[in-house]
Amino acid sequence: MKLTDASFTDTYKLKGLRKKLVKILEDKYPFDSKILEVIGSLPRHYFFESAFGEQAYQDKAFPIGKGQTISQPYTVAYQTQLLEVKTGDKIMEIGTGSGYQAAVLVMLGAKVFSIERVPELHKTAKTIFAFLELSPRLYVGDGTLGLPKYAPFDKIIVTAAAPIIPETLVAQLKVGGYLVIPVGDKETQQMIRIIKTSETTTKKEVFDTFRFVPLIGEEGW
Ligand code: SAH
Repeated sequence: MKLTDASFTDTYKLKGLRKKLVKILEDKYPFDSKILEVIGSLPRHYFFESAFGEQAYQDKAFPIGKGQTISQPYTVAYQTQLLEVKTGDKIMEIGTGSGYQAAVLVMLGAKVFSIERVPELHKTAKTIFAFLELSPRLYVGDGTLGLPKYAPFDKIIVTAAAPIIPETLVAQLKVGGYLVIPVGDKETQQMIRIIKTSETTTKKEVFDTFRFVPLIGEEGW
């Protein structure tokens, strides 16, 4: 993806479209006002090539190159809500992609560690974060293995479709921590939230159906 100065220009028109997007999300689901505020203030078009700026404010996923997509705003809001983000939470994200989801988490006050397997996407996300002056820690690698060096985490979010719940990730959660992950086949997945209730036990909650790009790796596809 090629970013130019035009990619980082906010306009009245784009601001207006962003407000409309927030209204669309508000009408679809009772999202926390804090999450909607962040979506309302973070220019999603910065994560797109400038030619597609206006499309950033449709409630849709969009290609970001390398066969990957930026998640639909509804999906970002939904996973964020399930994480119940608190200021200072240490959160690991698997699948940096465009960086948009990571930016939302940082703006909610979390300390974010995000892993991407495609180096080019990692690099583009880095450029966008530098411009936004946001600083999640970004890594390249197989996120299904997590970041044992920085574990345990309060929360873990996986933004690609997993065939199973990676045990390695559950092991890197604090007791009381949450793992939010779409699990299923390559076509559709159920949003799952795992709550680590003790060192050896978990509670599983099942939410709505989504469609993500596949999680590729040792504990993925
Ligand atoms: N959170 C992203 C969504 C990107 S789509 C956003 O806000 O834009 C999912 C991303 O997961 C893709 O970029 C894909 O390359 C990445 N991915 C897939 N398998 C992975 C793995 N094992 N480790 C890290 N990233 C992975």
